[in-house]
Amino acid sequence: MVGKGLLIVVSGPSGAGKGTICRELLKNNPQIKISTSATTRKPRAGEKDGVNYYFITEERFQHMMSEHEFLEYAVVYDNYYGTPKQYVIDNLHNGNDILLEIDIVGALQIKKKFKDAVFVFILPPTLKELKNRIVSRGTESISDIEKRYDAAISEIKQIMKYDYAIINDSISGAVRDIEAIVRAEKCRVVRNYEEILSRF
Ligand code: 5GP
Repeated sequence: MVGKGLLIVVSGPSGAGKGTICRELLKNNPQIKISTSATTRKPRAGEKDGVNYYFITEERFQHMMSEHEFLEYAVVYDNYYGTPKQYVIDNLHNGNDILLEIDIVGALQIKKKFKDAVFVFILPPTLKELKNRIVSRGTESISDIEKRYDAAISEIKQIMKYDYAIINDSISGAVRDIEAIVRAEKCRVVRNYEEILSRF
């Protein structure tokens, strides 16, 4: 583990409610910081640069890749997405917990680099509900909706690569579940061994 902070990786299909759950989690838990990803996707209405994402050009993304500035990156639904490295490393060193909301390809890259990160997969209540949520968000074209729905099915098949699954029947329930996971992970003996030895 780098420093004392916990690295929490959250994935799940588009429309599963990851974004809402993560926002609620951060509201109640100020020691958890979210990493803002860089993407070549165009901003949706209401999205702000530096808040939702760093919206950058493909050239800039390629440059950051070649300078090894990403902890992980992936192409998701035809756009590049990546986690800038420095913010994550600095916060973990300072003892802050870091939340990454990233896709499964990126999550597997993190798993190789951070053996004690914790991997959480958020599921929608049903596939029908998932489709309703993507459609009613109204931000994607018909072909994008189909792409995201098909991707959801193949992502869910890979859930065994994660440590925890949360079914998003209710936002508040899902947030309580993540909070419980974080608390339990922090009590793991391996994470506390040095502290225990120093006291007893
Ligand atoms: P959206 O376009 O809906 O904001 O995000 C599309 C997908 O990209 C989501 O599954 C989201 O988790 C993933 N994503 C967002 N940021 C990153 C990132 O930095 N790295 C990777 N690998 N995936 C990301």
